[in-house]
Amino acid sequence: MHLNPYGEDAVKLAASLANQRPSTPAELADRCRAFGLALESPVTAQDVERVHAVLDAWEQVVDAPDEQRRAELVNRMLAASAAHPRLTDHAGSGWHLHYRDDDQPPGAVLAALISVGTALHLVGRGMHRLRRCAVIECATIFADTSRTGRQRYCSQRCANRDAVRRHRAARAAS
Ligand SMILES: [Zn+2]
Ligand SMILES: [Zn+2]
Repeated sequence: MHLNPYGEDAVKLAASLANQRPSTPAELADRCRAFGLALESPVTAQDVERVHAVLDAWEQVVDAPDEQRRAELVNRMLAASAAHPRLTDHAGSGWHLHYRDDDQPPGAVLAALISVGTALHLVGRGMHRLRRCAVIECATIFADTSRTGRQRYCSQRCANRDAVRRHRAARAAS
């Protein structure tokens, strides 16, 4: 996975992992592969543990009450996981930037990818574009990459569910 300028793939991978946390090394590797991230070294139980800790910190970013706090929390994640950027063509798929040291275990690779990807997404698309679904009992996290930046639901299913509910409430009130 190359980090695109808006960090889209990385922030979506983070949301997927947070919404349904991988419990085994094999599952973590599979989930990354599904997002186009081929990890270079085998995933261990320690990597799974590291990723869970990263996701705990990341969910605090999602739930931050305002932009200032959100920025502070992202900066803390960046400080804990990212290194100076460097050019690399390690995969033979073209030159790109890494924000981490070479030869890191998968847990550290994911920590850097999630932190930097989230930072790029927020500054590139808007600081508010990371949230939970507006259907309270759903609470699924999503990165809003919509054109308008006003996505409120994780899925069309939840949007429909809420529309039906609002319709019923309005009818009951009248
Ligand atoms: Zn790379
Ligand atoms: Zn939802």
